[in-house]
Amino acid sequence: MKFLLLLLLLQLAASEAAPVASENSLGENELKFAEEYLKKFYDFQAQGISMTEVKTNEQHLEEKIQEMQQFFGLAVTGRLDKPTLQQMIAPRCGVSDVHSHNVLQGRPVWWKNNLTYRILNHPFYLEENDVHRVFDRVFQVWSDETPLNFRKIYTGEADIMLSFARRDHGDVAPFDGRDGVLAHAFGPGSGLGGDAHFDAEETWTHSSIGTNLFLVAVHEIGHALGLDHSKNTNSIMFPTYKYADTDTFRLSTADIHNIQYLYGNPQASQPLDPPMFDHGTVCDPNLSFDAITTIGDRIFFFHDRFFWWKAPESPRSSASLITSRWPFLPSTIQAAYEIEARDEVFLFKDEQYWKIKNLTLQPGYPRNIFFLGLPYAVRKIDAAVFNPLTNKTYFFVNNRYWRYDETRKVVDEGYPKLISETFPGIGPKIDTVFYYDNHYYFFQGSDQLEYDISSNRVTRRMKSNSGFGC
Ligand SMILES: [Zn+2]
Ligand SMILES: [Zn+2]
Repeated sequence: MKFLLLLLLLQLAASEAAPVASENSLGENELKFAEEYLKKFYDFQAQGISMTEVKTNEQHLEEKIQEMQQFFGLAVTGRLDKPTLQQMIAPRCGVSDVHSHNVLQGRPVWWKNNLTYRILNHPFYLEENDVHRVFDRVFQVWSDETPLNFRKIYTGEADIMLSFARRDHGDVAPFDGRDGVLAHAFGPGSGLGGDAHFDAEETWTHSSIGTNLFLVAVHEIGHALGLDHSKNTNSIMFPTYKYADTDTFRLSTADIHNIQYLYGNPQASQPLDPPMFDHGTVCDPNLSFDAITTIGDRIFFFHDRFFWWKAPESPRSSASLITSRWPFLPSTIQAAYEIEARDEVFLFKDEQYWKIKNLTLQPGYPRNIFFLGLPYAVRKIDAAVFNPLTNKTYFFVNNRYWRYDETRKVVDEGYPKLISETFPGIGPKIDTVFYYDNHYYFFQGSDQLEYDISSNRVTRRMKSNSGFGC
């Protein structure tokens, strides 16, 4: 680290045009502090060893300064100017300002509505009862706007474990003493997931003096529920601390919108089931899927309000809420297929279907399946699959199927036909099917049948969740 810093400083001294050098009052400590800040909160990676790498390092630093300035609504100079440094020393949350999860993955959320929390300790100068009262009210703030229920427990492992800790406290982010980072929290998940830690060296209070525990805790529980930092200064999820009257405190409209985007509003909710939508759920031996399709080089498995996706050959999968990826889609998608050459994906529910391209909804959808040429009596499709070798799509309904010509955009003559007649060993009904590498993969309940297209026969029989490494 010291070596890197030295290189950087040498480089700065050598180049008048260097972005950070133009602030001539900037000392070594400020630069070091700023680097650490950008590492922690903006994913800055100092990595230069040779002089050419130092150059890219410098550009990288400038970009990260700009990113940070943009986030806080500062003048985007790319330089460590006074307002920028001023913002950097403001007491704040220890969670990064850049998304730690990738966009396709969606946000991590709790897959259940009933959550537990446990308060492990309290700062010695605050009454234990008062600390409990503060946290109870914090959970009330979030449960008022969502279908989530929070129950306090006093022993054992809670979903959300709350503690006050100093310096190194067993996770990857040691606290820094008074000011600087005030607290941090982990997004929904098992283990550390959902936990919130408060820097025990801050002066925690119930008032405007020192650091108000209630306000910081509302923010941290926002993270524990899956929210990221907001650029909106009115949002409780703004990264830096700002006092507000706690007696009249209310979540901002933006915060309510963001949390309801993840969990729905208090009324519109049904309890989520299965309770934990994680690896354990995908490994349920009775698991069935509503719809499966390839999308690019991934396979998407739809089930109820959720979907998993994975690379075909890898057992590793990720899960997400359908609405967190595609807010316009209903739950329980019934059929799906991809035309990879056109980068188009079709998703079906009852008599409606949606077209998605580059993961975004195309205008003019949803449309009615009647206009594909299916009889009016067909009110829903069980499964659909596209065969790129023949440019035909198969629509499965009960024990029969229709074949659709994607070039002429019509249903071929002579259909429907019985599934079991054309696909020996399959049927009478199927849940879903997808095409991959000259095979169809038919799913019937908890069974999966690999069907070789050229030899027209079932070549393998597996569990529906085979391939998830269960
Ligand atoms: Zn935060
Ligand atoms: Zn921690």
